[in-house]
Amino acid sequence: MSTSHHDHGHMDPPRVQEVADGAYAYIQPDGTWWINNTGFLVGPEGVVAIDGCATENRTRAFIDTVAKYSDAPIRTLINTHHHGDHTNGNYLFDTATIVAHERTRAEILAYGLMDVEPIWPGVGWGDLRPVAPFLTYTDGVTVYAGDLRAQVRHFGAAHTSNDSVVWLEEQGVLYTGDLIFNGGTPFLLMGSPAGYLEVLEKIKGLGATTLVPGHGEVCGPEQIDYAIGYTNFLLETARKGREAGLDPLSVARETDLGEYAALSDSERIVGNLHRAYAELGGVERAGTIDIYGALGDMVTFNDGKPLSCYA
Ligand SMILES: [Zn+2]
Repeated sequence: MSTSHHDHGHMDPPRVQEVADGAYAYIQPDGTWWINNTGFLVGPEGVVAIDGCATENRTRAFIDTVAKYSDAPIRTLINTHHHGDHTNGNYLFDTATIVAHERTRAEILAYGLMDVEPIWPGVGWGDLRPVAPFLTYTDGVTVYAGDLRAQVRHFGAAHTSNDSVVWLEEQGVLYTGDLIFNGGTPFLLMGSPAGYLEVLEKIKGLGATTLVPGHGEVCGPEQIDYAIGYTNFLLETARKGREAGLDPLSVARETDLGEYAALSDSERIVGNLHRAYAELGGVERAGTIDIYGALGDMVTFNDGKPLSCYA
């Protein structure tokens, strides 16, 4: 079966949603490939930003928007993980200390700007320059914007090797990064299905009432259970496929995604199966596999057409 294509014809502009006093989500419709959400926390002496955007234009628009909410500079930028939609704009935050997990830094230093033109052609990226976080942690760090206390926590490999959440415990608000795609297919090609299940249980245990996902609309904790459901479905599909001696692309082609077919970017099943196969075969969590080969299989699955990117 082929991937379901969503109609991107009209996309609303990004918008700001207040999720607690002084805490905001910056939501970029429609949340598909490369179109991520960011956030910001406003304190009297400065702003804490949570992630930048994929392109120069989108990141500049985000920074300009923040300036409407505070005259103070963005003093801290937290990267929730290394993926380019969240970090390509790092170089534009020239007043900020960029904070992230130590492996976020390592990934950006190792790979810089990935050449994604064969997979997502024709994107107006702008004049990007990779900038790695330069204040790093292993398990977490606590950042303040005035009285707002933000616990930045890494719970293990999941969507990538280096995901962090930003947890406003007092407000019950959790910025999840790409641990949650509300309305989109979870993506584990560079992470770990087994790790993802563990991390989802841990973030569920935080007891957040409001989630700002990495993509899609602000939501509640039910989206954590939904992601757990998808991952169990993925692992079951991978186990059966391996036993049948089928490669990930073949399995993806014969799999009925059921309720998950309605999620955007459903071709991610192919990359997810590649990662699940590797892990079932003994590759360590978020260990090295052929990422470009898997992305190529996703294009093949998509009738040989490059993947959609509306960034
Ligand atoms: Zn990501």
